[in-house]
Amino acid sequence: MSATDYSIVELGDPRLRQVARPVDLSRPDVVLPIAAAMREWMDKRGGVGIAAPQIGVDLQMMIIASRPNQRYPNAPVMQPLLLLNPLPLRYSENLVEEWEGCLSVPGLRGKVLRPDAVDIEFFDLHGRGHLLSLTGFPARIFQHEYDHLIGMTFVDRVASPQDLVTEKVFLEQILPVRMAATSPSP
Ligand SMILES: [Zn+2]
Repeated sequence: MSATDYSIVELGDPRLRQVARPVDLSRPDVVLPIAAAMREWMDKRGGVGIAAPQIGVDLQMMIIASRPNQRYPNAPVMQPLLLLNPLPLRYSENLVEEWEGCLSVPGLRGKVLRPDAVDIEFFDLHGRGHLLSLTGFPARIFQHEYDHLIGMTFVDRVASPQDLVTEKVFLEQILPVRMAATSPSP
């Protein structure tokens, strides 16, 4: 199996609504090709994260890979990280509102309120457990991808339909205003 054996599953497809099954940690031979396909699709589409259900695989796997790109010019740089059977353990009380996009919801952005930080546990390819504290954009990516593992998308998380905009409007009207607001003054 290679990346061409998979395709991106889009909103409305029942596979995005399933609760994903745990990965068998004794089978890295099964996990590796799926992780490679996820990585390839994520890179191809300029994503900063991807979950296995997004390529139609019903397993608790995600990659988070915060980095600046065309869609997220302000993102911090982070090596792509594969998380198996991830679980949020504790959320910060501090909530932040941010615009999100999704490879499975092409052309749309939504404003979503989420905790600013999250402590998580996950397993790596060798079956070793890890604890990790994420803050800011990586914390948001994790929460967005974790939603995919429980059959949810960011569209389910917007407070109102008015918090949905097209990618075009986001890039042309919302992003420039936000960047001007967050740039340090000279
Ligand atoms: Zn997504």
